[in-house]
Amino acid sequence: MKIKELTDIEGTPSEMEVIKDRTNYLRGNIEESFAERLTASIPDEDTKLLKFHGSYMQDDRDIRNERAQQKLEPAYQFMIRVRLPAGVATPHQWLTMDNLANTHGNGTLKLTTRQTFQMHGILKWNMKSTIQEMNHALMDTIAACGDVNRNVMSTSNPYQSDVHGEVYDISRELSEHLLPKTRAYHEIWLDEEKVVDSNEAEEVEPMYGRYYLPRKFKIGFAIPPANDVDIYSQDLGFIAILEGGKLQGFNVTVGGGMGMTHGDANTYPQLARVIGFCPPDKVNEVGEKILTIQRDYGNRTDRKNARFKYTVDRLGLDWIRNELNTRLGWEIEEERPFQFDRNGDRYGWIESDGKWHLTLFIENGRVKDFDGYPLMTGLREIAHVHTGEFRLTANQNLIISNVTATNKAKIDALVEKYGLTDGKGNSALRQNSMACVALPTCGLAMAEAERYLPVLISKIEDTLDEAGLRDEEIIIRMSGCPNSCSRPALGEIGFIGKAPGKYNMYLGAGFAGDRLNKMYRENIGEEEILATLKPIFFQFAKERQENEHFGDFVIRAGYVAAVTSGLNFHS
Ligand code: SF4
Repeated sequence: MKIKELTDIEGTPSEMEVIKDRTNYLRGNIEESFAERLTASIPDEDTKLLKFHGSYMQDDRDIRNERAQQKLEPAYQFMIRVRLPAGVATPHQWLTMDNLANTHGNGTLKLTTRQTFQMHGILKWNMKSTIQEMNHALMDTIAACGDVNRNVMSTSNPYQSDVHGEVYDISRELSEHLLPKTRAYHEIWLDEEKVVDSNEAEEVEPMYGRYYLPRKFKIGFAIPPANDVDIYSQDLGFIAILEGGKLQGFNVTVGGGMGMTHGDANTYPQLARVIGFCPPDKVNEVGEKILTIQRDYGNRTDRKNARFKYTVDRLGLDWIRNELNTRLGWEIEEERPFQFDRNGDRYGWIESDGKWHLTLFIENGRVKDFDGYPLMTGLREIAHVHTGEFRLTANQNLIISNVTATNKAKIDALVEKYGLTDGKGNSALRQNSMACVALPTCGLAMAEAERYLPVLISKIEDTLDEAGLRDEEIIIRMSGCPNSCSRPALGEIGFIGKAPGKYNMYLGAGFAGDRLNKMYRENIGEEEILATLKPIFFQFAKERQENEHFGDFVIRAGYVAAVTSGLNFHS
């Protein structure tokens, strides 16, 4: 199928489409801009293109005003995000990231909500060597951001380790299959010899074409009953179907997504829907064809309406299924039954097929040495003795995975020595919490998230203790802006930043990540948040039905309506 040209688009293409058109398959002037040493920044057009290479330019917003008063340019720095399919890293890769964070970054690592490493605070002059060292450890940052398929996620649940391994392999293959084919990344960062320019999109980028996708594209694999990857938040999802413990194939979901814009009802979070079933050996083909449907039919004039969820809602599920079948040349099968029971992680040790796995609670995914809590050092020591893998979970936690019986005692001793928590002693609310980075590095943040949610939870815990709910698992999430990187619309309690210290508060998502929440209070600060939640918690403690989750209760009690489609999110 011939890939559309910009001239084929109805309406005026968005600025980003024009940039993609003129920058020769993601090259632009990135190389020249990074070689220039007069400023720590790079030009605007290159910052937009740089996302496709897995990096954002940022500045330290905590000191922005101070530097402006001193007539200095903002403290420009770069964030680098690794492509790490399914969040699996070797101990060597962990040590590489730890070392880079301490030599070129801000001394911390962020485990993201899409199961990968993010490093902040890298100066322009250290970017190339940082990326090269990652590559030496067999990690890259290609397509970790930008209008392409992002890091492919997969269930971290190690309970069924053989199926987990199989699904991991499939997710990794799909990630490789959907990578952009341009050599721009290798030329710019890895000093590969330049290829001769070509204007033939099908030759250079046979799948994406010259304009790549209209917006980012996210894929996840889930193995029920764990919905830890929030499959309904993904543009494209694969739900593993097992019979007798053996993988049969996947239910295919389309059209999920979390981001929206405050005050614009045409934008909304949406839940993905199942459109059929495919066998394991057809995943790459199905993934590619769905991606090309979005390539050809996604909105390229308005980026706020360009995610696949809007394409699916505009054209309809039946249309998408028919178009997929046409492009495949065969028909996907009827969906198969499945059941999710939760979307969070389970902590502590478990044993599976003679190997041990330890899930550690990493609050908001931030790995650093805190005062009195040397988390980063402890994990570094574990990496020195560990012979299995590290698995980054979709809930920003960490699994020390595939530990031999002999090594378990060594790792236990290090956990003890460095006080690394597996969640014991925390409230269940904290263990089910998640926040995006937000301030001070994210340029889009309207309010704090990662630095504030732990403080807010401490205050909420006082009420939970009074109400006898300390051990009640409630999913709570906070994002610093409606881009919703921490998937707040799937929190039983969700917060989205509106302004410094002010949040929209949402209630009522499903505990298994299968229902959206709904706005309950707009633009409120801490005092009102605590005062609002308190009576609801007490009523929940008193009137809840057996095994009823908080998100279900607030709907039954009439606080909010159930939202099973994003089309009803604002109504
Ligand atoms: Fe930044 Fe918004 Fe994403 Fe948070 S949700 S990291 S504030 S873009």
